Order: sequence, then C-alpha cells, then structure tokens
Amino acid sequence: MIGIKTLHWNPGDPYPVSPVKGTPWDKAILTADCASRKVLGFPAAHLPIQEACACGIYAVNAWFTLIDVGGCFDSPYAFTCVLDPHGKVIVHEKGWRAEKVSVVGVGRAVCFCGHSDLPALRAAQHFGVPFFETQEIIDMMVADAYSRGFG
Ligand SMILES: [Zn+2]
Ligand SMILES: [Zn+2]
Repeated sequence: MIGIKTLHWNPGDPYPVSPVKGTPWDKAILTADCASRKVLGFPAAHLPIQEACACGIYAVNAWFTLIDVGGCFDSPYAFTCVLDPHGKVIVHEKGWRAEKVSVVGVGRAVCFCGHSDLPALRAAQHFGVPFFETQEIIDMMVADAYSRGFG
C-alpha cells in the first residue's frame, strides 16, 4: 500500500515541511508524534497512533483526493511525496494514517497552477528517491487501488 501527500520546501528552510502543521521532514523516514495529546490533553499518554485520537502521518489514496484535501495549499514551493506506511496503519475511505512512513518518491504538486519542478527535484535529492512524472504517480495509485481490491 502507498499513499500521497503534499509537502512544501520554503525558501530558506533546511528541510521540507508539512503544509498545515509545519512538521519538518528532515529524513526519508518519519515517525508520528501525537500533538493532540500535548495540545488538547488527550486522556492518556499514548504512542501514536490510536483509533480514538487523530494522530499519525496522513496520506491519501488517489490523485484527485489530494486536490480535494488541499492540493498545493496555494504554495509555489509545494511538491508531492509518495509514501510507504509502516508500523500501525489505520485505513479510511480516502487513504490512511500511519505510525511511520518512508518516502519512496516525489513528484510535482497536485494542482493545476503549473508550478516549477524545483522543489520536487530538490526533495528527490534530499530524500534520495526518484522523481516521478505525474502520470507515473497516477498509474502507481491506480495499481495500488487494484491490488487492494478497490479497482
Ligand atoms: Zn494521539
Ligand atoms: Zn498549485
């Protein structure tokens, strides 16, 4: 199973960051933390991820779903990450959230703005992963959906 997610690599930042929470992606492997526990005082301390909490690293399972959830988030520094989930994974209708992910590839931002490829090319080098053309990522997502029986 794979999933896709948007990240931003803003000028001056040493690492790509997630568009909403600004979580730094310093390495190609990222482990979830639980912000809800700290911010909202979620009942008991727990290791991510838990069904009753919203923690985990989120990814969606289809190209157009990524547009629905924000696309490039209006940033010219956006690119797409293809992620492989590890550890505990909770699957939902539009994708999944995981305890841990590894970046297996990157591509252009999912939107119709026509951004530069530079953030994605820079991220490919940073993570040590291939740069995929948009159509390659779409094909990977479709093949993944078929393999899970949702074709
Ligand atoms: Zn949590
Ligand atoms: Zn855009």
